[in-house]
Amino acid sequence: METDFESRFVDAEYSASDDNDIELSLRPKILSDYIGQDKVKENLSVYIEAARQRNEPLDHVLLYGPPGLGKTTLAGIIANEMGVNFRVTSGPAIEKPGDLAALLTNLSEGDVLFIDEIHRLSRAVEEVLYPAMEDNELDIIIGKGPSARSIRLDLNKFTLVGATTRAGQLSAPLRDRFGVIFRLELYTAEQLSEIVTRSANILGIDIEPEGAMEIASRSRGTPRIANRFLKRARDFAQVVGDGSITKEVASIALAKMEVDNLGLDSIDRLILTTMIRNYNGGPVGLETIAAATGEEAITIEDVYEPYLMQIGFLSRTPRGRCVTPAGYAHLGMVMPGQQKLDV
Ligand code: ADP
Repeated sequence: METDFESRFVDAEYSASDDNDIELSLRPKILSDYIGQDKVKENLSVYIEAARQRNEPLDHVLLYGPPGLGKTTLAGIIANEMGVNFRVTSGPAIEKPGDLAALLTNLSEGDVLFIDEIHRLSRAVEEVLYPAMEDNELDIIIGKGPSARSIRLDLNKFTLVGATTRAGQLSAPLRDRFGVIFRLELYTAEQLSEIVTRSANILGIDIEPEGAMEIASRSRGTPRIANRFLKRARDFAQVVGDGSITKEVASIALAKMEVDNLGLDSIDRLILTTMIRNYNGGPVGLETIAAATGEEAITIEDVYEPYLMQIGFLSRTPRGRCVTPAGYAHLGMVMPGQQKLDV
């Protein structure tokens, strides 16, 4: 069962990275190994149990939240807990309606089809998805021009799990066809510390609880970042320490990666300082920040902003983004208004 699940992940067209095997080994495979997101887990376990009792596939599930929070992992867990195949693709990979038709006709009864970045599906592809999600039917057009005709194919019942960093960009008809919608939250430092400790165990890394907490509290609420920092801290432990990740080793490793005590990296600081130096701390529009920092607006919005807002360094107003007094204080800078008061 376990190996099956692993190979399904490998089958999937997943971005091949150097340490894909490590990545796979760290992914929890059952719901009880998935740390945090308690509300989601609680509800999901009921839905899974109920669907299994009825011998039906689970309703379509939409997962949304910033990258690296465990959407793909959760989709894999759903397939595993339901005992079905897990097929992975992404919005940009499905270029034509025919690509989606090929995927759908290859699904076995009850399979989970995971579409990452589902907000990037084209309109034409979405049109194919609607009857498939609703009635397990596929309408395909054969031929072109006046002789074109449409035929209808029955599909096996399946569960679509869609993931997106931006639920707001999903078209209303698509969003409405998901029976279950979950928003994943940033993790607390305690939860991330648990994840780091679990990963260290799997990889055979020696880590002290304070070392795990140091990595956790600087991982901006994101398991993927916590696991990445763990691997880098292991390198430092090996070369400059005695192999064990202590608080001190973790702290040295993170400082070398230019990650500060709250987990901000050089780009976070660039965003904040650019807003302060060039625009008096805001309000300033997203596109302007993007142009001034050389980062893409989408990356700023999906990757940097959620954490900066979570820790209260950035606020969003109708007129644009603003650096908060806490943000100024963290950078050791003084807000214009306060400066005058102080003098
Ligand atoms: P997303 O699809 O949201 O970008 P992933 O599912 O790829 O995120 O998660 C990134 C990595 O973080 C996974 O490889 C997994 O090891 C780890 N991870 C994510 N969520 C959890 C969790 N709740 N418990 C333990 N590890 C997790």
